Amino acid sequence: MKPIGPIPPDFSGQSRLTIAGREVAGWIEEAGSTPLFIYDFSIIASRVARLRAALPAGVDLHYAIKANPFAPLVRALAPLVDGLDVASAGELRQALGVKQAGTISFAGPGKRDAELEDAILAGATINLESEGEAARALAIGDRTGVTPRLAVRVNPDFELRGSGMRMGGRASPFGVDADRAAALVGTIRSSGADWRGFHIFAGSQSLDTQAIIETQAATLALAARLANDAGAQPPLVNLGGGFGIPYFAGDTPVDVETIGAALGDALASRDDALAASRFAIELGRWLVGEAGVYLTRVIDCKQSQGETFLVVDGGLHHQLAASGNFGTVVRRNYPVALANRLDAPATETVSVVGCLCTPLDRLADKVALPEAHPGDVIAIFLAGAYGLSASPVNFLSHPVPAQILAGSPDNPNAIFTS
Ligand SMILES: *Cc1c(COP(=O)(O)O)cnc(C)c1O
Repeated sequence: MKPIGPIPPDFSGQSRLTIAGREVAGWIEEAGSTPLFIYDFSIIASRVARLRAALPAGVDLHYAIKANPFAPLVRALAPLVDGLDVASAGELRQALGVKQAGTISFAGPGKRDAELEDAILAGATINLESEGEAARALAIGDRTGVTPRLAVRVNPDFELRGSGMRMGGRASPFGVDADRAAALVGTIRSSGADWRGFHIFAGSQSLDTQAIIETQAATLALAARLANDAGAQPPLVNLGGGFGIPYFAGDTPVDVETIGAALGDALASRDDALAASRFAIELGRWLVGEAGVYLTRVIDCKQSQGETFLVVDGGLHHQLAASGNFGTVVRRNYPVALANRLDAPATETVSVVGCLCTPLDRLADKVALPEAHPGDVIAIFLAGAYGLSASPVNFLSHPVPAQILAGSPDNPNAIFTS
């Protein structure tokens, strides 16, 4: 038997899984079929409120849309955050529909000229990934007569320890190396573009509170050094994010209150070069990841060479990350449960496998669950970030699952797409 990750506190301790006040069977009836993603917006809203209370004054909160671009979710979340971070022209269009252009920033390598032009004409800030991209953005500004708003994304000379994804301290497609960033600021400013500041993102999915604190302090120090080298005060310093959520057995949550207090101390003693700057942190999964549940129905219970397989109607084409094939080195089990008998004794060791013809399609490996039968519903938690949009949904041509935003204040009823 192998362990599973911790069921998020919002869902644990129930006998039958209830999401936003409604039992799973009710949601499935509403959607018409499984598989299905449900996001409980009240969980997201309380995450935002908790972080706001923890962060010091002068620090904005941005949402990175790529974590979950489901349109009703982005629309509901946009008014609760100060900015949206986008990574493509598609995300930019989505963000412009729900947020002022001046609060939107566009990062990501390989931005096409047409994407840069969209952002410049709209008035969004481009987080420049290279000198070459800067030259193209400045040329588009000249050609269109619109002053580009440009920030320099810096490839930091350190990394966020404990990161699931390391983004600094090495050669990188992301950002301009720290030792060349001040020169690029000079180029931008002398060209007459609107220099917006620095974007410094050192890693993702860290559960190490102390590492996040140290990284934020190092990020502030780097921004101050670059500002002094460039001889200019950055209007905004985007400090990145990297707050992880506990996916696997033994994982524990980050302590955002301690992080916020330490950031307050670090800001209080910051270098004069940052005296007039605003700051931002940008988060994806910490805001939305725990709010999502993926529901999939057992089609078949089969035995093979002494092992039990629960074959379900979903799979890695919807929830790649739970199969261990999205950026994990060692496959471990996401939190999983039998939705209709959450608190029944776990008497069986089973593997939950998806309906795709590949041995990669394993959503839970040798986990203890209550005895399950065809028709039972399996819940896979932590499906609110990097779920459907980060999965190969066309692989094997199964239908696209429904998504529901539950518990949204402006629309208390479910919203569906397919
Ligand atoms: C993906 C990404 C994020 C969000 O990361 P999470 O781990 O979901 O919080 C933030 N900023 C940038 C630049 C990103 O690429």
